[in-house]
Amino acid sequence: MGRSITENIRKDFPILDTKVYGKDLIYLDNAATTQKPVAVLTAVEDYYKTCNSNVHRGVHLLSQQATAAYEEARHKVGQFLNAAFSHEVIFTKGTTDGINLVASSFGRKFLHVGDSILISAMEHHSNIVPWQMICEERGATLKVIPMDKNGVLQLDVLPALLDESVKLVSVTYVSNSLGTINPVREIISQAHAKNIPVMLDAAQAIQHLPIDVQELDIDFLAFSGHKIYGPTGIGVLYGKEKWLNLIPPYQGGGDMIKTVTFEKTIYNDLPYKFEAGTPDISGAIGLGAAIDYVNYISLDAIQEKEHDLLNYALEQMAEITSLKFIGKAEQRASVISFLIDGVHPYDLGELLDKQGIAIRTGHHCTEPIMDFFDIPGTCRASFAFYNTRSEVDLLVAGIKRAAAILI
Ligand code: PMP
Repeated sequence: MGRSITENIRKDFPILDTKVYGKDLIYLDNAATTQKPVAVLTAVEDYYKTCNSNVHRGVHLLSQQATAAYEEARHKVGQFLNAAFSHEVIFTKGTTDGINLVASSFGRKFLHVGDSILISAMEHHSNIVPWQMICEERGATLKVIPMDKNGVLQLDVLPALLDESVKLVSVTYVSNSLGTINPVREIISQAHAKNIPVMLDAAQAIQHLPIDVQELDIDFLAFSGHKIYGPTGIGVLYGKEKWLNLIPPYQGGGDMIKTVTFEKTIYNDLPYKFEAGTPDISGAIGLGAAIDYVNYISLDAIQEKEHDLLNYALEQMAEITSLKFIGKAEQRASVISFLIDGVHPYDLGELLDKQGIAIRTGHHCTEPIMDFFDIPGTCRASFAFYNTRSEVDLLVAGIKRAAAILI
């Protein structure tokens, strides 16, 4: 168990002291990006102050130090995910980049005319569009696991969907719009029973749920550093060694090669084969510091606090009669999408903003979900462990005040 989370934790996040329009910031847009603790800010600053240098190519001390720090960050990520090998951890720009890497590399190698990729009805655009693009290129089709009106995947149709055309399943672990935690173990086990590999979009899971890639037996998994208290611009693609060796490089350039002549290039070993060009060194180091920080707080304590905030908010918000929840899965992360009858989400979001309350409004890069519910968008409040019950109270009071003005 980690330390219990008290309001003291907020001191670790300087931005939480910010005033907006003269009011205390209430930051409830954590599903879009999380705030950064001092430990992460310091790690990034220290890197630039003390060992800024390029990695993997310098004989000089600074370059060796930068390389060691960068590789240590990879090792930390590997341990956090319980990867069998550090070289199964590829640094990317983020979840989007990781999914594009797999779509492009796996697709070029394994997708043929008549094949298909299976995703779900609750994917972020970044787990739809890259697959559409590669399917179009390869003459394959995209198939979709449907969901019900509660925002729960309908797994009863999964056996039929997993026919022999399916070459890969790619689903989100947690929905960014609905908060639903998907039964990924069941999906993985059904797919594996038919020898179909599975990719997880863990953008909304990595900061909430312990993830053990070996226990999950997942083939590929992508996440973004900025959703787990790390910097923007850095992300991770985990891939089983077997798959990463089977698929071709995504991009060509420096670092991903062993030798180059005009006639032939020999590609580098894992993980460098997938890391062309100078990587985001400070980002990786910052992500390593974020993982240390999360380990220090502990995911157990984070989950406990976030569950409390989620349940408290659901209870309080349910008392607003004009409020409708979008997504009612029992298994869910600390994300709440809602609408107020007769009020456009954007108008509510704007009025809350003027009260210092930052929520997200719109389609949340999940237009198919909005089409499914036949709505233009939602208001979304998403909580992190540094939020408090009194912030939830202010959200609820803010919604009531805004609704009184708008209805
Ligand atoms: N998938 C999900 C479920 C997400 O929530 C997000 C970020 N909103 C992404 C993918 C894309 O992440 P990024 O923009 O950091 O690449």
